[in-house]
Amino acid sequence: MFTIPDIQESHLLAGQRRKLVEELRQKGISSPEVLRAMGVVPRQLFFPRDFEKFIYRDAAFPIGHDQTISQPYTVAYQTQLLQLSTGDKVLEIGTGSGYQAAVLSAMGVRVFSVEVLAPLLKEASGVLKKLDNEIQLFHGDGSLGLPAHAPFDAILVTAGAPEVPKSLINQLKPGGRLVIPVGEKPDNQRMMRITRLAGNQTRTEVFGQFRFVPLRGKEGWDAEK
Ligand code: SAH
Repeated sequence: MFTIPDIQESHLLAGQRRKLVEELRQKGISSPEVLRAMGVVPRQLFFPRDFEKFIYRDAAFPIGHDQTISQPYTVAYQTQLLQLSTGDKVLEIGTGSGYQAAVLSAMGVRVFSVEVLAPLLKEASGVLKKLDNEIQLFHGDGSLGLPAHAPFDAILVTAGAPEVPKSLINQLKPGGRLVIPVGEKPDNQRMMRITRLAGNQTRTEVFGQFRFVPLRGKEGWDAEK
């Protein structure tokens, strides 16, 4: 279960986080649960040292290994599209800094997250354990999902895919939602939500444009064409 960590936090940071939540509301994030979650996760825990003034800016930021911590708006937007209920079983592909996983945990869901870069996973794991000791982290190619733990109520991909990975749709429960940025170019995607209906039918909805780092792996940009 998510617990707010016992950290010493300056009034400055706490105030900046409140302002960020207000900014997200103005940019169209309307779910009270999502705004609440964004307001309780200390983003500084997932942020590189010495860049304090960037922590609560609504922007992505480099975290090493050519990867980024997602922009808060993007984190909130994807979380809102997932339509989560307390207790849902949720798979995230691309743990990265761990920030999005923490926001999911703060939504009261059970989080499984897969990361392909072992050093990033190790760093994220240290922080996430302090917030939620039930988060389950895995090292590997998340484009194939996590068959051993399927099915999921929701799957969130936080890297840009060339197309929707079939493996991920197959690992949704009926009624389950896959939220994934998809685009022909590695750096420009449309946000998509695919809902698995009864009888293996799916419904696809397409939302706005985003820029994510590429999804690697067998059903990502490393697929054999
Ligand atoms: N959710 C992250 C953002 C991560 S950026 C956050 O909140 O900070 C995307 C991440 O996806 C990177 O860490 C990248 O290494 C990872 N990634 C890319 N392809 C992957 C794959 N096939 N399986 C698992 N992780 C992948």
